[in-house]
Amino acid sequence: MNKLRILISGASIAGPAAALLLARQGHAVTVVERAPGLREGGQTVDLRGAGRTVIERMGLTAATDARLLRQRGFALVDARGRRRAEVPVTAFDGNGIVSSREILRGDLAAVLFRACPPGVEFRWGDTVTALTEDHDGVTAEFETGAPQRFDLVVGADGLGSAVRRAGFGPDSDYLDPIDLRYAWFTAELDAPIDGWFLMHTARGGRVVSVRPDRVPGRVKAGLAIRGFDGAAPRDRDAQWRMFEEQFADLGWLTPRLLTAMRTADDFAYADLARVRMDRFVTGRIALVGDAGYSPTPLTGLGTTLALVGAYVLAGSLAQSDGAVSPALDHYQSVLRPFVATAQRLPPGGATGFAPRSRPAIAMGAWSYRAMTTWPFDRMLAPLFTKADGIDLPDYATPGCQSGSISVMNRTNAR
Ligand SMILES: Cc1cc2nc3c(=O)[nH]c(=O)nc-3n(C[C@H](O)[C@H](O)[C@H](O)COP(=O)(O)OP(=O)(O)OC[C@H]3O[C@@H](n4cnc5c(N)ncnc54)[C@H](O)[C@@H]3O)c2cc1C
Repeated sequence: MNKLRILISGASIAGPAAALLLARQGHAVTVVERAPGLREGGQTVDLRGAGRTVIERMGLTAATDARLLRQRGFALVDARGRRRAEVPVTAFDGNGIVSSREILRGDLAAVLFRACPPGVEFRWGDTVTALTEDHDGVTAEFETGAPQRFDLVVGADGLGSAVRRAGFGPDSDYLDPIDLRYAWFTAELDAPIDGWFLMHTARGGRVVSVRPDRVPGRVKAGLAIRGFDGAAPRDRDAQWRMFEEQFADLGWLTPRLLTAMRTADDFAYADLARVRMDRFVTGRIALVGDAGYSPTPLTGLGTTLALVGAYVLAGSLAQSDGAVSPALDHYQSVLRPFVATAQRLPPGGATGFAPRSRPAIAMGAWSYRAMTTWPFDRMLAPLFTKADGIDLPDYATPGCQSGSISVMNRTNAR
């Protein structure tokens, strides 16, 4: 096979997944990541359907299984913490609101990173600043260091992708906001949540949630608000103040979480948006994962898309014997229909997730209670099988050997 020089921007899920598959095929892979090192921890993500199949084909099932979270299900609570609805993890054959195979984003990133062959070069704390394509390659410029030539550039750098901006145009052309401001962070909490994903929805489209961490006494907290006028707060302090002001009157765990928010070392904030692109490839540039087709956290399918995207991109290059143009066309055409399905939001979208009025909140609680009962369970079942909505090509490539790969002998220090 034609061996390529490949630059991947982003080292979360899509980036390391693509890096390991492409490096196993013998390509020379460089990964550039803005963060100073591998970002551990992070929110809970799913290994569902085709995403799980990709993990199996990579030989990483045992490594991810060892880090799965123990969860009991989803429960809606009121302002005093009383349960109003429960959906156990066993609902919908383990593929419901909380699935039986969930893992922290950082744990999955670590498994993928450690499985990368030793030849993969990681450039931490750097970013692409410009991409210039000509007839036989792309010149990438970086914040630090000299420009470099590559045969293929892969943007796996998430919602605010620098590669998308450099290769395809401004964010405003592709971001489709869903009217949800969202913050997530890790909090120490002495109130036991006993393995449950607990969520409180309050008037005004406000949502407070906690989910289990792998460490007892710690939770993954989420704060979300909808229909909030004005420009999005850009700096950290303004983001904290927005939540403090808007959530000041809420009960349950909210006061404790607002305090924890200010000292969390992994506080993150986003105005949630789908990334809508007719084509997520151009010339010698391809986007993978949230960078090219973020479906938003409301779908629970972002990680599946990132893994499947990396797998199909690598498989396409193996199939084309390293010829970039036909590979990218194949990648685009295989993935496009799956992206369209995965990006459909659950019923009600952000309105259903964060209802504003008392009647809408009561209706939401009723629908969570009803969803596991006949006939609603049958009607809703297709929503929870969307991760199976692609017939994964079986690329017989060196990137997908069978058998398990040891991931424990690699460290973050390179
Ligand atoms: C609160 C929340 C809850 C979620 N819940 C779920 C869930 O339940 N199930 C699910 O499947 N998915 C969920 N998701 C979505 C999931 O996290 C993403 O879809 C998935 O992480 C996408 O992976 P990615 O590698 O494409 O992008 P990201 O995980 O966003 O990673 C992008 C990487 O690129 C790096 N980067 C960014 N800019 C640059 C730059 N300029 N240069 C270099 N590097 C850069 C970032 O530091 C990061 O490491 C959730 C997301 C959030 C925010």
